Amino acid sequence: MENAHKAVKALSKFYDPRRTKPGQEITLVLTPQTSGPNNNIIQRMVVRPSIYSEITIALIDDQRFRVSKQTFAVKRRLFKANGSIKTSLYEAAIKSGVPKPILMELIRIYSWDVDFQRGIRVGDKFEVLFEKLFTENGKFARFGNVVYGNLILRGGNNPLYRYRTSKGIIGYFDNKGKSARKALMRTPINGARLSSGFGKRRHPILGYNKLHRGVDFSAPRGTPVYAAGSGSIVKKGRNGAYGNYIRVRHGSKFETAYAHLSRFKPGIRIGARVRQGAIIGYVGSTGRSTGPHLHYEILKNNTQINPLRLKMPSGKRLAGNELALFSSVQAKLEQQYTALDTNHK
Ligand SMILES: [Zn+2]
Repeated sequence: MENAHKAVKALSKFYDPRRTKPGQEITLVLTPQTSGPNNNIIQRMVVRPSIYSEITIALIDDQRFRVSKQTFAVKRRLFKANGSIKTSLYEAAIKSGVPKPILMELIRIYSWDVDFQRGIRVGDKFEVLFEKLFTENGKFARFGNVVYGNLILRGGNNPLYRYRTSKGIIGYFDNKGKSARKALMRTPINGARLSSGFGKRRHPILGYNKLHRGVDFSAPRGTPVYAAGSGSIVKKGRNGAYGNYIRVRHGSKFETAYAHLSRFKPGIRIGARVRQGAIIGYVGSTGRSTGPHLHYEILKNNTQINPLRLKMPSGKRLAGNELALFSSVQAKLEQQYTALDTNHK
């Protein structure tokens, strides 16, 4: 037992044993103890916490272990995909071979500015350039980042480029160096399953009008609903025709409201702070509702305003030398996208 304790202690220099996951491989070399209790003696132990590293402990005498950490290089390779949207970006992207984690990221970076239900039409197109990570021996390890995306909506390009500023902030910027991140999200819901509002028959998509005062996103029951911006919860609970309802205050002017939820995310309570993009509840059909959907309102000085018309206050804009650096990254990404073949192996 003494020996095992020491082994774990030695290991903990580089590795927290509590982080061990089911299925994780650990190699042990043991020698049977000839006298004393029936324990085996650990001679060597090898742990691979990730594809990037391997930690080895080896017994050097009766008392001590030597611990060493080896790190492995991982190669990033770029892949591209593109396609035309018939029903939803989700369906088109999956058909074109975009891996799910990449698609989720692509949807996320466009959720600040694109209304995935009303803003996407049949015939709109998408382009994406993304990374896959491979180990030194060429084995696929995991997906990396979306480095370039473009939603071509009604013929207009909306490119976004991943860029790391000289201060180390990583974000997505458009071709003018404007951050994709906005104070409020136009699609505060997991946009993956949202189909184009154009030509949809079963659930007519309501726009904004005096009686309706919000926009609806038809989505399957249980679809996660996000806080459109960072702020604090000011209302939560049953609210008449709204059903299960949440209202979030963002600064002094704006509030957003979310209605007909099936349930609230545990931990969401009045007064709690939420961060932009955090799950606050799930799509449902509570209150006066004919089918599962999110009813989303933006309030300015306590009055509902038309989210479809709101010019979202824009985020950071790169300037000067930073903009010049960004432009060279942008040009490189465009060139890489053009040079690549879509028929990747
Ligand atoms: Zn509504």
